Amino acid sequence: MNNTETKPTESAAISGKAWNIAVLPGDGIGPEVVASALKVLRVIESMTSGLHFNFQEYPVGAAEYLRNGDPLPEASYAACCSADAVLLGAMGLPQVRWPDGRELTPQIDLRERMDLYAGIRPIKLFHAEDTPLKHVTAGQIDLVLVRENCEGLFSSRLNHTHPARGEVSDILRITRFGAERICRAAFRLARQRRHKCTIVDKANVLPSMVFFRSVFDQIALEFPDVAADHVYVDAVALYLLQSPQAFDVLVTENMFGDILSDLTAGLVGGMGMAPSADLGEDYGVFQPSHGTAPDIAGKGIANPIATILSAAMMLEWLDTVETRQGAHWIRKAVELALADPANRTPDLGGNLTTEQMTDKIIAAL
Ligand code: ATP
Repeated sequence: MNNTETKPTESAAISGKAWNIAVLPGDGIGPEVVASALKVLRVIESMTSGLHFNFQEYPVGAAEYLRNGDPLPEASYAACCSADAVLLGAMGLPQVRWPDGRELTPQIDLRERMDLYAGIRPIKLFHAEDTPLKHVTAGQIDLVLVRENCEGLFSSRLNHTHPARGEVSDILRITRFGAERICRAAFRLARQRRHKCTIVDKANVLPSMVFFRSVFDQIALEFPDVAADHVYVDAVALYLLQSPQAFDVLVTENMFGDILSDLTAGLVGGMGMAPSADLGEDYGVFQPSHGTAPDIAGKGIANPIATILSAAMMLEWLDTVETRQGAHWIRKAVELALADPANRTPDLGGNLTTEQMTDKIIAAL
C-alpha cells in the first residue's frame, strides 16, 4: 500500500516487468489459502497485458523446523529480501515448540528482521449477513487497524526467563523513533480515507502509553486535515462492538493490535475475512491476519478470502497502473461473489470448499 511511504524499489516499479514474488505457504491452512491466491493472481495476469509474475516458493514454518531445525532458513529469508514482494500463508503449529515452551513464530522474526513496522489490517464488511452485529449494513464497517509490529509488549518475547526465581516480567517498549513512524503511517493512511485517526492506548495506567500518546499528539500536528482522537484499549473493545462505524484508522502497539485484529475480524465474519500487509521502508509481506488454523487444516474448507484480499493489497503496494487495476478487480470480484448468499465457506455458515469459493471469485473476475 502506498500509505506508509513504503514502496518497491524504483527499478521494480517499471510497468511491464515480471514481478518476482517470494511465496511462503508455511503450515496448516497456509498452503491451501496461498494456492487460492496464486490461482486468482494468475487469472489477473491473464487479464492484463504487460503484467507478469514469477512465483517462487520457499520453505518456512514449523514443518521446516522439524525437517531442518530452522523455521526461517537463511536462504528463504534472503529470497524474501531480494523479491519484489512476499506472499505468506501462515506459520507455526501448537504442538511444535522451542524447548522453553513458546511456539515457533517465524512470521514475527520475519517482521522484525525486515523491519516491517507497519501492520496494516483493513476490516470491511462486504455483506450484512456476515456480521454478528444487529442493524449494521454492508459498508458500515470499514476501518483499518494499524499495528506497530517491531516493539511494544512483543519486544520481550526473546528474553530468557527465570521462573525458578518466582517472578517473570515482560517489558512494553515504546521508542520515539518507533512511535513516530507508526503514527505517521496511520495519519497518512487516514488522509487517503475518511480523515480520522484514533490512537488505542492505556495512557491512564501505563507510562509507556502516556509516552506513545504524547508522540501521537505531536505527529497529529503534521496532519491538521485529519481528526485525531484517543481511546483506551478496554473501551475500544466495547465501542467496536457498539458502533464500529465510528472508526476509520486505529493505531496501536503490537500486543493490543494482535488482540484487536481478532476482535475486528469477528465483526466481519471471522479470521478468514481479514487480510493484512506488513510494510517497512523497503519491503512488503502480505498475509492473512489469521494463523495456521490447525483445527481445519487439511480439510479443504478454509476461507481463502483473507489471503486473496492480501494479494490485492500486494498488487496495490506494487503500485503500477496494471497492479492497481488488478487489486481493484480482485476486491470487486470478492464483493460480487459474496453478493450471492450461497457463496460461503463453513466459517461463514456456507458449505463451499476452499477451491469452490476460489472459483466463485474467479468466475466473478
Ligand atoms: P495465531 O496466534 O497464529 O495468529 P490464532 O491462535 O489467532 O493464530 P487462527 O489460526 O487464526 O488462531 O484460528 C482462529 C480460529 O479462526 C480457528 O477456529 C480457525 O479455524 C479459524 N480460522 C482462521 N483462519 C481461517 C480461515 N481462513 N477460514 C476459516 N476459519 C479460519
